[in-house]
Amino acid sequence: SNHNILEKSPQCKNPSGLIGDSAHCDYETVGKINVDFSTKLHEVVNLYKECPFWSEAGLCMNRDCSVETMDTSKIPEQWKSHALGKVSMPPKQNQLFGALPVRPMIKDQDFCVPDVETDEVYVDLKDNPERFTGYSGPSAATVWKAIYEENCFDVSEEMTAGCHYCESERQKLKESREHPELHDPAKENNILVPPEPAPMESSKPSKEQMNEIFSRVPKGKGELQQLMQGITKDSPEESCLEKRVYYRLISGLHASISIHICDEWFNQTTGVWGPNLDCFISRVGMHPERLENIYFDYVVLLRAVSKISDFLAGYEFCTGDESVDKNIMTVVTELVQLVKKCPPTFDEKLLFQDKHGEGKQLKNQFRDHFRNVTRIMDCVGCEKCRLWGKVQTLGLGTALKLLFSYDDAALQGHKAEGVLTRSEVVALLNTFNRFSESISAIERFGVMYQERLEQE
Ligand code: FAD
Repeated sequence: SNHNILEKSPQCKNPSGLIGDSAHCDYETVGKINVDFSTKLHEVVNLYKECPFWSEAGLCMNRDCSVETMDTSKIPEQWKSHALGKVSMPPKQNQLFGALPVRPMIKDQDFCVPDVETDEVYVDLKDNPERFTGYSGPSAATVWKAIYEENCFDVSEEMTAGCHYCESERQKLKESREHPELHDPAKENNILVPPEPAPMESSKPSKEQMNEIFSRVPKGKGELQQLMQGITKDSPEESCLEKRVYYRLISGLHASISIHICDEWFNQTTGVWGPNLDCFISRVGMHPERLENIYFDYVVLLRAVSKISDFLAGYEFCTGDESVDKNIMTVVTELVQLVKKCPPTFDEKLLFQDKHGEGKQLKNQFRDHFRNVTRIMDCVGCEKCRLWGKVQTLGLGTALKLLFSYDDAALQGHKAEGVLTRSEVVALLNTFNRFSESISAIERFGVMYQERLEQE
């Protein structure tokens, strides 16, 4: 089928139809590689841009929502010149009437709107872990809603046979904008997303249901690709592959963020941080599709990393500390070697095909909508959530750029130089790390669940 986006590697075909059972490739190991830069390799993000879509009044005042910045006297000069870990502070009073804002350079190939830095502030991602912050309610729900609404592409239906582009959702949106007085606040949390599998009967799933959920977690070689085939096969609800891919990417990111929240949960009664199994079950576990989407994003990121593996293997991070440089080199080399042994799991060529001359237009739409998602991040009312939201949308956007703006030949060896900014490289690796961590957390939650069963 056209909608199978798996690429079969000839040496890995086997009678069962599973691929990935090659002698050396082990997705489990790749998944567990911790692309963790331990310290000192951080991101350039502008945390204080104005929300371009609505007036954001939902600022989270919890201590856990705020970002800890670094003492600039401890920042090596090299970092400053390379703009590592730089974020921007809100404009000072006297700057409000200053020069016109600098317009970011955005290229056709970019799936993200780049940040422009103003005042330099450095953030150590390690000091600001992505975890429970207490940010929730209408502000968070509005952001997620806006992000999902971006999957309503405006391509006309005649141009894209088989794709229906949210006509009814768009109509509803138009009506709610034209007649805000009819807006029902009780429906604040209604998110416009494609239908999900029917919810389970009770909020507490049965033992059988949970076993079935954990049994869907891919184990070992081949199973990941089998799962990918299931994800990308024709769907009765939504026949447009690009739209399904968009939805899966976002839902996977959402589920991965939820897992980090549940994995590092703050128990307000005991004052203790730790994993919260019930949180995992209700937000992700009970929705097998969400669980699968995490693996979908992971495979997309893996494909992007593999596409620039030669470039990454020789990339100099120049952190200003030789031993840190060495550590990073070791981790990245290990990752690159593992990725190179694995057959590709995602064939991006199956998207945006130009059968009726619509491929380019569809790709531009997809890109523009993803760019909007990166702009929506400026509306997240919690600093720390915004920081990680920005890093991860930049990481996913970088993966999409590598997948859809360049072919393999264009990225081989030194040709990849100049394609990515340092921020994009760092975001790609950190995002890959976040998803690897989610996969490890899913396994830990599986173990916790078994332990709970034994105690019952
Ligand atoms: P939400 O997660 O807000 O979800 C809203 C609705 O979306 C759900 O009711 C469901 O219908 C649907 N939904 C949920 N998950 C999925 C999925 N995977 N796929 C499809 N549909 C889905 N909070 C923190 O504590 N720490 C953070 O670091 C953090 N980072 C955030 C980053 C961003 C960009 C945003 C927008 C929010 C962040 N939040 C963070 C808030 C967090 O994501 C939740 O919004 C909040 O915890 C409230 O959760 P909820 O259970 O009400 O549902």
